[in-house]
Amino acid sequence: MNAAELPEREGMDYDVVVVGAGPAGLATAIRLKQQAAERGAEISVVVVEKGSEVGAHILSGAVVDPSGLDALLPGWREEEDRPLVTEVVEDHFYLLGPAGGAKLPNFAMPPLMNNHGNFVGSLGNVARYLARKAEELEVEIYPGFAANEVLYDATGAVRGVATGDMGIGKDGEPKAEFTRGMELRGRYTVFAEGARGQLSKQLIAKFGLGDGREPQKFGIGLKELWKVKPEKHKPGLVQHAFGWPLDSKTGGGAFVYHMEDEQVMVGFVVHLNYQNPWLSPFDEFQRFKTHPMFRDTFEGAKRICYGARAITEGGFQSVPKLSFPGGVLVGCAAGFVNVPRIKGSHNAVLSGMLAADHLAEALAAGRSHDELASYEAAWRGSAVGDDLKKVRNVKPLWSKLGTYVGVPLGALDMWTNTFGFSLFGTLKHGKPDCATLKPAAQCKKIAYPKPDGVLTFDKLSSVFISNTNHEEDQPVHLKVKDLGLQKSSELDVFGGPSNRYCPAGVYEWVEEGGEGPRFQINAQNCVHCKTCDIKDPNQNITWTAPEGGGGPNYPNM
Ligand SMILES: Cc1cc2nc3c(=O)[nH]c(=O)nc-3n(C[C@H](O)[C@H](O)[C@H](O)COP(=O)(O)OP(=O)(O)OC[C@H]3O[C@@H](n4cnc5c(N)ncnc54)[C@H](O)[C@@H]3O)c2cc1C
Ligand code: SF4
Repeated sequence: MNAAELPEREGMDYDVVVVGAGPAGLATAIRLKQQAAERGAEISVVVVEKGSEVGAHILSGAVVDPSGLDALLPGWREEEDRPLVTEVVEDHFYLLGPAGGAKLPNFAMPPLMNNHGNFVGSLGNVARYLARKAEELEVEIYPGFAANEVLYDATGAVRGVATGDMGIGKDGEPKAEFTRGMELRGRYTVFAEGARGQLSKQLIAKFGLGDGREPQKFGIGLKELWKVKPEKHKPGLVQHAFGWPLDSKTGGGAFVYHMEDEQVMVGFVVHLNYQNPWLSPFDEFQRFKTHPMFRDTFEGAKRICYGARAITEGGFQSVPKLSFPGGVLVGCAAGFVNVPRIKGSHNAVLSGMLAADHLAEALAAGRSHDELASYEAAWRGSAVGDDLKKVRNVKPLWSKLGTYVGVPLGALDMWTNTFGFSLFGTLKHGKPDCATLKPAAQCKKIAYPKPDGVLTFDKLSSVFISNTNHEEDQPVHLKVKDLGLQKSSELDVFGGPSNRYCPAGVYEWVEEGGEGPRFQINAQNCVHCKTCDIKDPNQNITWTAPEGGGGPNYPNM
C-alpha cells in the first residue's frame, strides 16, 4: 500500500506537544502547567514516549545534581515517593594502569567537580516520578508511541508530529491489526528526544540549526546494574576512573556508583571520536571490571540489568540553535551535558523549564507556530549556559592531546574558568565522530579476552537482561541507504566496525553460500543507543523508531 492509499490519520490539538518523556520533556510539561496555574490560564500539553512505559528507555549514570529538581519541584526531598534517596558520601577519581592506579587528590579537582550534595540514583525512576507529577497536573502522557514524522504547515513551520503506523509487516504491507498513526498538533512542539533524537536530527538539518556551531560530539555509555554483597556495598560511594583499559589517544572512562538496596551501577563511556575501527566499547567495558582495584566490588554479586545509550559531549560550542518556526529543542536533543562532570540531567530539567517559561509567554500573547527566539537568546545567560561554558575546553583538549596531557590541561582550564577566564578561549572540536575512524589496515587489531560468565559477559547474554523486545514482523528500523557502500567502505576499508561499536550485536557480516559477505541486521536486539547513526563512517545507517513500545525495558537504569 503506498502513502496515498493509506487511510487519513486522526488528529488531536494541543497548545504544546512534547516528544520524549525524559527529564527534559517532563520538566517542560510540568513547568507549563505551573505557568498556567500562575497565570490563571489553560495550557493543554501532551507528551509522547516511545518506550513501553515512562523510564523504559532511560539509561544514565546517575549521579544527579539536584539543582534542576529543586527549581522545578522545591518540595521533592520531603516526599514519600521521591526518586532520589542516596546522597553522595564519598567521591574518588582514579587514573588506572593495567595492574594498579593512583587516586587523585580531591583538592586538585576544580570545585565544580565536587559531588557532595548530589544524589546517586536511577534517572529512569526520576522520569517515572516526574511523570506522576505531570499527570497530577493533567498532562496527557502516551507511552508506547514513537513520534516518527514532523508535521509542517504551508509556511514550513512545525505544526506537530505524527506517531508511527502500527501493524505493518516485514514486507511493508499492512497486517490484519494495522492501525494508522495519530497526528498530534500543537501551537508549539518541543523536541525532548535525548541524545541524537531521530526527529531532532532532521530538524537540525532542515533549519540549519547547527550552522556556525561546532559539530555535536558523542560518547557511547554502557552500563550494568549489579546486586552486590552487603559487605561490599557503601551507599553513596561514587568512583570515576580513566586511563586503562583505553589507550591514551582514546577518550573515556568508567563510573561505579553505589545506590540504595545493595545496588551498584557500573558503567563505561568511550568517546565516539575513537580512531581504531577494531576497538569494541563493549569489550573495553568488560575488561574494566577485571581491574584489580574494582573487581572485588563484584565478587559474589549478581548482574541484574545491562544497557547502552549515546551521550552528547560537544557541550557549549556544539549546542545548535534551539528555536525554529513552531518548535524548540530541549535537554540532550540539544546536547546540554557537562562532559567532565558526566552530568546532563540537571540541565535537561533546567532547559525544559526555561523553554516552558518562554512558551507560556508566547501562548499568553496568543502566538503560535512562530519562532521562540527569546528562548534561544536566553540559554547562554542561564544556569545551563554558565554550567557548560566553564568546561567547554575539556573535551577538545582531551581529544587533541590525549589522556596524559589533555586531561590535566582540561583541569587547569576548569580552574581558570572558575575565576572567570580561560587561557584557550573556546577551542574547536574539529571533525564529527563519523569522520575519525582510520582504515582498518592502518590500525592494530585488539585481542579481547573471552568472557568468564561471572564478571565479564558476551553481548547476547547482556542484551537478554536489557529486556529488549521488538515485534518481529515489522520493517527493519535500521535503514541502510546503500548496501554496496556498506560493503565497499564499511567492510572493505574499515573492517566492519559496526560489529564492534554496536553494543547489542545487531550488525554482522555473514558469509554464506559462497556469495561473499552479507550485511545482517538483527534489529530485534537493538537497545536504541543510536551509536550506529553517529559512528557509521559513511553516515549510511539511519536509526528510525520501530513500532511504538519496542526496545529495551529498563527497570531502574
Ligand atoms: C552512560 C551515561 C551516564 C550518564 N551519567 C549521568 C549522570 O551521572 N548524571 C547526569 O546528570 N547525567 C548523566 N548522563 C546524561 C543524562 O542521562 C542525560 O543528560 C539525560 O538523560 C538527558 O535527558 P533528556 O530528557 O534530554 O533525554 P533522555 O533522558 O534520553 O530522554 C529522552 C526520552 O525521549 C524518548 N524518545 C526519544 N525519541 C522519541 C520519539 N521520536 N518519540 C517518542 N519518544 C521518544 C526516549 O525514549 C526517552 O524516554 C549520562 C548519560 C549516559 C548515556
Ligand atoms: S543498532 Fe544502533 S542503535 Fe541499536 S543497539 Fe546497535 S548501535 Fe545502538
